[in-house]
Amino acid sequence: MKKINLFFALTAFLIVSLNAQDYKVKGNADSLATYHGNKEIYAIKNYDDHFSNEKPTNVILMIGDGMGTAQIYAGKTANKGALFLDNFKKTGFVSTYSSEDYVTDSAAGGTAMACGVKTYNAAIGVDNNKKPVKSILEKVAEKKLGTGLVSTSAITHATPAAFIAHQPHRNMYEEIAADFLKTNIDVFIGGGYDHFTKRKDGRNLANELAQKGYSVIQDINQIKDFKVGKLAGLTAPEHNERVGLRKNMLETATQTALNLLSQKKNGFFLMVEGSQIDWGGHANDITYIVEEMLDFDKAIGVVLEFAAKHKNTLVIVTADHETGGLTLNKGDLIEGTLIAKFTTGSHTGVMVPIFAFGPGAEHFTGIIDNTDIPKKIEKLMNL
Ligand code: MG
Ligand code: ZN
Repeated sequence: MKKINLFFALTAFLIVSLNAQDYKVKGNADSLATYHGNKEIYAIKNYDDHFSNEKPTNVILMIGDGMGTAQIYAGKTANKGALFLDNFKKTGFVSTYSSEDYVTDSAAGGTAMACGVKTYNAAIGVDNNKKPVKSILEKVAEKKLGTGLVSTSAITHATPAAFIAHQPHRNMYEEIAADFLKTNIDVFIGGGYDHFTKRKDGRNLANELAQKGYSVIQDINQIKDFKVGKLAGLTAPEHNERVGLRKNMLETATQTALNLLSQKKNGFFLMVEGSQIDWGGHANDITYIVEEMLDFDKAIGVVLEFAAKHKNTLVIVTADHETGGLTLNKGDLIEGTLIAKFTTGSHTGVMVPIFAFGPGAEHFTGIIDNTDIPKKIEKLMNL
């Protein structure tokens, strides 16, 4: 019996190790995955959720890619029953289907939340006819308010791309990178340096960004100290590493973006993405999911700390879709351990949760559609 357990443990370890290399590797659905507990539990803080304003000046949209309720509760269990997300008292659910498919991808899901339209899977900021649709970020920028994007993937990857680029396919990374130059975005931090510099067309977009007045910085420790001006933070050649290697990059990037955007006295829009919860789901790797979920929750903590001091700030946390068909079959809130099961190595069509904190939060309750999100933000910000 012991030998058999050891065999399964070794096999599971090998599968997990291999899958960690590439998020596109799909896990074996229907196998049980064990999370053995988190060594470093972090303390959460409670924030008062009373606001005098009815409308926000600043809106921060936080997207956990692939983050369904099971992913959230896996994180909550691993952190022994507490998350920063617990501070959100206004909650609801979001339908995520795309124009052509019950199950969306991150491009169509991102476009829905950025541009307010249903479109085909793989579309970046374009409708079903491949026509560009203005995003909430672009509308905010037109009003001369501040704008920012932060991601743990490449900044050219589907989710952040949907907020700033207009391309018929998510794989057009170099075209997506070039679209950043067409905007006046104040700060963006994520991977994807190579999409700006090693290009088929020979352009060096890092130089072009510098000519436009951006500081282009690759080192997160320098990004941390960046206090004034326009910032292009490109922290990896393509995607950032998973959290064990990239450390607190997401918290640092989020804090830097807030430092810069809070100088915009008339308000700002910031999108922050925890990209790799999705990749843990694709790999059917519960440890990967928990680590990325907790990293994303710590970034939520950074944002809540800001929102508590700047009470004109609305924070919205949601997902583009669920990944993995994750269920939690057993768990222990004292030990922080889990036994999980996946039903797929792909996305699923279940509703995802939405959480809101700050003035206007009550508009993000009940069952809404992903396309409602930018429409509601637009109304609340008087765009
Ligand atoms: Mg994403
Ligand atoms: Zn995915």
